[in-house]
Amino acid sequence: MLLSNQQEKQINKKWNFHPKLPVGFYPIFDWPPSPKRLLNFIWSYWLQKSDRTIFLFLALFTFYILMPPMQEMATLKIEWILMLSLRNYILILIVAGGLHWWFFVRQGQGNKFQYDTMTRNNKSRIFTFNNNIYDNMFWTLATGLPIWIFFEVLLLWSFASGRIEVFQFSDGWIWFCLWFPILQIWQSFHFYCYHRVLHIPFFYKIAHSVHHRNVNPGPWSGYSMHPIEQTIYISSLLIHFVIPSHPLHILYHLYWLVLGTVSTHAGYENIWVKDKNLLTVGSFFHHLHHRYFNCNYGNPEVPFDRWFGTYHDGTEAATKSMRNKSANMK
Ligand SMILES: [Zn+2]
Ligand SMILES: [Zn+2]
Repeated sequence: MLLSNQQEKQINKKWNFHPKLPVGFYPIFDWPPSPKRLLNFIWSYWLQKSDRTIFLFLALFTFYILMPPMQEMATLKIEWILMLSLRNYILILIVAGGLHWWFFVRQGQGNKFQYDTMTRNNKSRIFTFNNNIYDNMFWTLATGLPIWIFFEVLLLWSFASGRIEVFQFSDGWIWFCLWFPILQIWQSFHFYCYHRVLHIPFFYKIAHSVHHRNVNPGPWSGYSMHPIEQTIYISSLLIHFVIPSHPLHILYHLYWLVLGTVSTHAGYENIWVKDKNLLTVGSFFHHLHHRYFNCNYGNPEVPFDRWFGTYHDGTEAATKSMRNKSANMK
C-alpha cells in the first residue's frame, strides 16, 4: 500500500518506536485556545492514572503517613533527617531500580515501545567505573540524593520553624489546588532557562556533559547529572520561599523533579503489561534532545522551544532543517 506524503511524514524509521508525530506540546498555551484539547489534557493527565496523579498521591501518603509532625521538624535533629533520607533512597531505588529491572533486566516487554534499540554504550572509558549503568547510579545516589535531601530538609525545617508561613487549604483552596499544575509551568521555565545556559560550551564541559553521556537514556540516566547541575535543577524549589505554599507542594515538586525525571528518561513510552498500558512513562520529546543535542531544551509543558526556534518535532524533515540551520551557522 502506498502512503501519502502526509502519512509518510508521520513515520520516522530512525526509531524503533515513536509516538504520533509531530510530537507536540501540551495544549495549555495553544493559540487560539482549544477548550476541547485542554479539557482532554486535564482529563487524561490530571483526572486519571498518570505520573502526575501518582506523585500527588505519593506526596499525600508521605505527608500524612511517613512524615513526623511539623513541630518535630522545627529543630534540625538527626532522627527525622535520617528517616527522610532513608525514605528518599527507598523511593529512588523503587522507581529507578524498578523501571530498570522491568525494561532491561527482566526485559518484561522486549523492545515494545522502546524508542531506540541501537546497542547501548555499556562499557566505555567515558563512564565512571567504565560502565553506563554504574556511572548513572553513582551520580544519582552519591550526589543527587544528598542534594535532594538537603533541599527537602531546608524547606521543611523552614516551614516547621515558622521561617516560612504554611499556606493551608483553608486559606484558599483554589490557590492550594492550582499551585500543583502551575508548579510544572514554573519548573518548565526554570529548566529551559538554565538548560540553555548549560549548553554554552564552557558550562557544558564542567556541568552538563555528565548527563549527556547518555545518548540513549534509561531510567538511571534521568537524575544522573553533575552535582552543579543537580543543585541548579533542584533549586527550582526555592520558589516556595516566596510563593505561598504548603509542605505538600514541596513534596510534590520534589517527586516531580526527581522521580519524574527518572520516569521521562525511561527510554520506553509505556509500561506494557499483559497487552495493556500500565502507565505512560517516557518522553520522546526529551529523548530527541539526547540524540540530536541542540534542540528541545525544555519540556512539553510550555512551548519555549517553539517560541525560541529550538523545537524538534521528531520528523526526519525536522532533523534535516535542524542540520541545515547548524551548517549555516558555521
Ligand atoms: Zn542538554
Ligand atoms: Zn535528559
